[in-house]
Amino acid sequence: MPLKTPEEYLESIKRPVNLYMFGEKVKEFWNHPIIKPSINTVMKIYELAQLDEYKDLMTAKSHLTGETINRFTHIHQSIDDLIKKVQMQRLLGQKTACCFQRCVGFDTANALYSVTSEMDKKYGTDYHNRFKNYWIEVQNQDLMVDGAMTDTKGDRSKRPNQQSDLDAYLHIVEENDEGIVVRGAKVHQTGFLNSHRAIIMPTLTIRPGEEEYAVSFGIDTNAKGITLVYGRQSCDTRKMEKGKLDIGNFKYGGQEIFVIFDNVFVPKDQIFMKGEIEFSGELVNRFAGFHRQSYGGCKVGVGDVLIGAAALISEYNGTERASHIRDKLVEMVHLNETLYSCGIACSSLGFQREAGNYEMDMLLANVCKQNVTRFPYEIGRLAEDLAGGLICTLPSEADFKSEEIGHLISKYLSTCEGIGPDDRYKVLRFIENLTMGVASVSYRTESMHGAGSPMTQRIMISRQANLEEKKKHVKNILDID
Ligand code: SF4
Ligand code: FE
Repeated sequence: MPLKTPEEYLESIKRPVNLYMFGEKVKEFWNHPIIKPSINTVMKIYELAQLDEYKDLMTAKSHLTGETINRFTHIHQSIDDLIKKVQMQRLLGQKTACCFQRCVGFDTANALYSVTSEMDKKYGTDYHNRFKNYWIEVQNQDLMVDGAMTDTKGDRSKRPNQQSDLDAYLHIVEENDEGIVVRGAKVHQTGFLNSHRAIIMPTLTIRPGEEEYAVSFGIDTNAKGITLVYGRQSCDTRKMEKGKLDIGNFKYGGQEIFVIFDNVFVPKDQIFMKGEIEFSGELVNRFAGFHRQSYGGCKVGVGDVLIGAAALISEYNGTERASHIRDKLVEMVHLNETLYSCGIACSSLGFQREAGNYEMDMLLANVCKQNVTRFPYEIGRLAEDLAGGLICTLPSEADFKSEEIGHLISKYLSTCEGIGPDDRYKVLRFIENLTMGVASVSYRTESMHGAGSPMTQRIMISRQANLEEKKKHVKNILDID
């Protein structure tokens, strides 16, 4: 059965990569305290897939090989698969309280599956089989795959081929019988370092004359010419301090990488789009649609944990019975479940593509993500309200544990009978972490910009809205011809 254990996954990513952090080259990144939590998070995915309790959500039967595979490598074969995807993401959000990084490649694969098939139909190319063979390897080896879309974009008022630096968008710079050479950079690359492979896509709809930018391909994340720069996150150096309590979520974390492609060679059998501009927009939209569906699961799981932390701190503060506290918790649940409803709804109304795979409902997936750009902020605001100002005035763990003054801090941080001040300290730091620390990247900013900034969803919503039909409803009721 092609399911890696968490330990096998860890061993498999111990490879030389050209990684920089704080201006220095990082060796053995898997031992780096800032990076380790992000690896723990991915290991959790591999761990849960091994457990009988979670098999139904975490694994699936491959339609390509018939084998039991990790669901993150599955091509959706039914509505049920689409729903289980969202449920699985909620589960993982609950278990890790951060971004678990493996969805991007998952969503890319599901988008490419149908797009490659449609390109072949139109142009007589062989992308679909190529992609299937590539993906069978991924399934059989239980590989983690990233999906890379966002270019650096240079001057946003100009098209890719009008930029003063043509590398502002990743593009083909050379081509021969063996393959292509590409140059450019992809930013906000969630989990790129922790992934074995990545699939690169265009960042926008490519127009005639810009064919070299309409390119999609698979690449090993440590391929020659790829340089990685680790993205900073708020309070990240707390992970390098002696104690662990000030980190908040000291077990798990996300990871964002700045990826530079400096004349990277891509062999032919890993190319899935090359100049077919007409399909570039479709690939972008389908990937974005799948990833907007994802947010109706992952952010809800993290929301569950934040709501839990808000309830717990209310209990520790002795405020849990106050009606306004209870009402705020209800509001948080209401918002969180609304996001989940959108994730489940766009999955339930999914449909089958001609290629045979299933895709979520595009309009509802965009509505889902549009809500995600707002509700986690309100949930976070309410969590801060319930936690109180201590989340940003607490002394350090070193003071808390100091032989000289620690007992005084404990004395004055004590609240209700039977509640340890250290537990309260942990929960306060955890809320700080989720709302303004490292994990706020996953829960807040990523909710805003991940899978596309708010305006991108509004564009898709306006395209799908069908206002003419809505006007017709009025005319029908009012007998207007
Ligand atoms: Fe998965 Fe959510 Fe992270 Fe995207 S933001 S990779 S959907 S956990
Ligand atoms: Fe994301």
